[in-house]
Amino acid sequence: MTSQGTSDGVERFRTHAPENLQERFAHRAAHMKPSEIRSLFAVASRPEIVSLAGGMPNLTAIPMETMSEIVEKLVREHGMEALQYGSGQGHPRLREQICDVMALEGIRANPDDVLVTTGSQQALDLISRIFIDPGDVVLVEAPSYVGALGTFSQYEADVVHVQMDNDGLIPDALRDAIKTLRYQGRKIKFLYLIPNYQNPAGVLLPADRRTEILDICREEKIFIVEDNPYGLLGFDRPSPNAMRSQDSENVIYLGSFSKTIVPGFRIGWALVPQALREKLVIASESSILCPSNFSQMAISSYLANQPWRDQIASFCKLYKERRDAMLESLDAHFPKAATWTKPQGGFYVWVTLPPEIDTKAMMPRAIVAKVAYVPGTAFYADGFGSWSMRLSYCYPTPDRIRQGIAALGKVVEQEMERRGVPQIN
Ligand code: PMP
Repeated sequence: MTSQGTSDGVERFRTHAPENLQERFAHRAAHMKPSEIRSLFAVASRPEIVSLAGGMPNLTAIPMETMSEIVEKLVREHGMEALQYGSGQGHPRLREQICDVMALEGIRANPDDVLVTTGSQQALDLISRIFIDPGDVVLVEAPSYVGALGTFSQYEADVVHVQMDNDGLIPDALRDAIKTLRYQGRKIKFLYLIPNYQNPAGVLLPADRRTEILDICREEKIFIVEDNPYGLLGFDRPSPNAMRSQDSENVIYLGSFSKTIVPGFRIGWALVPQALREKLVIASESSILCPSNFSQMAISSYLANQPWRDQIASFCKLYKERRDAMLESLDAHFPKAATWTKPQGGFYVWVTLPPEIDTKAMMPRAIVAKVAYVPGTAFYADGFGSWSMRLSYCYPTPDRIRQGIAALGKVVEQEMERRGVPQIN
């Protein structure tokens, strides 16, 4: 294998693979496809492009000096433990602290039921591994998180999207989907949803819908996977209590420090019903032996010694300013025929354009105008979403966001003209 530098600075590997390699791969390798977002990163990360594509946390709010003192002290004073293998389930002290973090969203949990993972992404992989046989159905919101869709499809799930509106997943649509699938004799393994400031739609599921969805799934014996990396990032008020706070037996809860502290330590967790705990720990041990002791102890020390709630508040302030810049610029520069969500927290706005517009085909023109976004089809397993796009406001400065949205507004207008879509005044 040789590597080549390219003009976009990305190393590309030329593999001298035999032609019949496909035949040698396991069947599941056919379902391993690059994420649309990852392939966009090379272009979107050029400095002249305003990237509204990636969902990278804005680490300018993190006190890096403090972080480096924590890391330095950790190695100096606790190196023998921090740099050693640790427990497969996760560091006991951190699991206790994770329970304190979850208490902010109404969850009362026992540290014994927490499994520390390498980001919540690993938890998605483990859950898929223990639940999904090829052809099993996984229910997800429409649209849903691209990283979860990729994982479910690698395990050969049949991903079925359930309709959402500006208040998240619609309970009646869930009832209908379950009824239809059951009539067809399909096996539904779980419902995956992101109730807070959803990725990619930015919407919040209200408390009454949470209860209704919990009731439906309990009755239908369908596990809920509640993925909650953004829950503490509400701008004006806290989000409603986590769904897990109402049901400890039917909800598998996923949390992460990626958005509330930093993603670089790769620490997430799963809070699991007791009956599933052992299987998940065994699955995790087989993939990573144990989560990094070093990362866990760094996060643990940060939680113990730093005002982390204030830190989250400063993240919220920073993201709220950027959300405001984005919503104001969308109002000023986007055609009237476009609609978008108004997030009360998190990172994302979901824009819907007239159906004649194909946001994937429009992307090269946006790049020429020096702005990047993620086309809507990335967030559907079934090719839907071609006239929508996800815009992230978390990373660029408010000025860059304004500049990017103004440029993108023009691109959309030109695209509408090109496709003969009438302008509404
Ligand atoms: N779930 C959702 C909804 C996400 O947006 C992300 C990251 N973008 C993840 C899970 C994975 O995060 P991590 O592995 O960093 O915890």
